[in-house]
Amino acid sequence: MPMPELLPAVAALRLVDHHCHGVVPEDLSRAGFEALLTEAEGASPLGGSLFDTQAGLAVRRWCAPVLDLPRHAEPEEYLARRAELGHTEVTRRLLRAAGLGGLCVDTGYTPRPLLSPAELAGAAGAPGYEILRLERVAEEVAGSGTSAADFAGRVHERLAASVRAGGVRVVGAKSVAAYRAGLALAPERPGPREVVAAAGRWLAALRPDAPVRLADEVLHRFLVYAALDLGLPVQFHVGYGDSDVHLARANPVLLTDLLRATAPAGVPIVLLHNYPYHREAGYLAQVFPHVFADVSLAMHNLGRRAGALLAEALELTPFGKLLYASDACGLPELYHLGAVLFRRALSELLRDGLDEDSWTERDAVRIAAMVGAGNASRVYRLPG
Ligand SMILES: [Zn+2]
Repeated sequence: MPMPELLPAVAALRLVDHHCHGVVPEDLSRAGFEALLTEAEGASPLGGSLFDTQAGLAVRRWCAPVLDLPRHAEPEEYLARRAELGHTEVTRRLLRAAGLGGLCVDTGYTPRPLLSPAELAGAAGAPGYEILRLERVAEEVAGSGTSAADFAGRVHERLAASVRAGGVRVVGAKSVAAYRAGLALAPERPGPREVVAAAGRWLAALRPDAPVRLADEVLHRFLVYAALDLGLPVQFHVGYGDSDVHLARANPVLLTDLLRATAPAGVPIVLLHNYPYHREAGYLAQVFPHVFADVSLAMHNLGRRAGALLAEALELTPFGKLLYASDACGLPELYHLGAVLFRRALSELLRDGLDEDSWTERDAVRIAAMVGAGNASRVYRLPG
C-alpha cells in the first residue's frame, strides 16, 4: 500500500517545538547512541538492542534518508554514516529536516555538555528561546550558600534577573516535581513562614559530598507560584519518563487542586508528555482555561503508533490547547522523529475527518496551524 501523502497544510507547517533539550556535541559509539535513544538506562543487555524498539525502527525508517542512506538501513550502516558525516553535519541535517519555526529549550537537564539554545537555533535555522528549570534555580541558590530566611528572596531575584537578561529570551519555566515529591501538590500558595521552615529543613540536610537535589512539596509549590507571579507559563513534567519517575505519582489528575487554585491568575500551565495519561491531560485541558497539553517524548517512543496517541489525546483536548513538542534530548534524530511522526499523525487524523465529512478543509488547515505553531506562540508570547 503506498504511503499517504501529508496534507499540504501539515507538510508546510513550521512547527514550534515548545519543549526540547540540547543535543550531544560529539560522535557516538553504538552503546552511546542506544543509551540516548529511549528512556532506558543505557543499553539493555537482557532485552537485546534498543534498535529493536519502535524508536529504533523509526530512526532507520525516517532518519536514514536524511543522511543519504536507503530507508531501513541497518544500525551498523546508519552509525557508520553518522560517524562519517560527523556530529555537526548530522545535527544540522536532522534539525533542518524537522522544519521548525521556533524552539523552546529546557536548559535545566545537563548530565553532560549539550548544545545551547543559541547553537540549536543556529542548526535548526529557527529562533530559539529558553525555559528555566525551577528546581535548578533553587538548587543553585541553595548551593551558593544562603540562609533559610533569605532563600525565597534570592530565588525571586534570580528568576526576575533571568527574565530580564539579554541573549536568548526566557519564555517559560518548568517544574520536575513529578520526579521528586510527586504531583500531589497542595493547592494554596505556601506562606512565608512555611517556606522558611521548608528551606531550613532542606538546607540543614545538604551534605558537601552529595549533589544538591530539591524534593520538597512546599518548595516545589513555592517555585510554581514564584514563576506564575512573574507571568511565566509553567510546564510540568507529567507521566512517562526515565526510571527515576514513579509513574503513579506523575498522573496529572493529582494536580487538579493546584490547577483549580491557579486558574484565576490566567497564566498558562502546560502538561508535558502525559503518556499514558494523555486522556486525563485532555480532560484537564478541556475544563481548566489556563491548562495546555502535549504528547512529546511518547511520539518518537511509540514510532508508528504515534497516530493512535495523537488521536486519543485530541479526543478531549481542545484544538486550541494542544501544542507540538519533540522532547528531543541528546540525539538530533529525536528532533526529526518528533516532527515527522507528529506531522504524519496530524495529517492522518485531519484527513480521516475530511474523508468522513466530520470537518471542512478550511477547519483542517486552521487546526493544523493552531496545533503546529499558533498555540505555542500564544502560550509563550513568541513574536510573529
Ligand atoms: Zn524534556
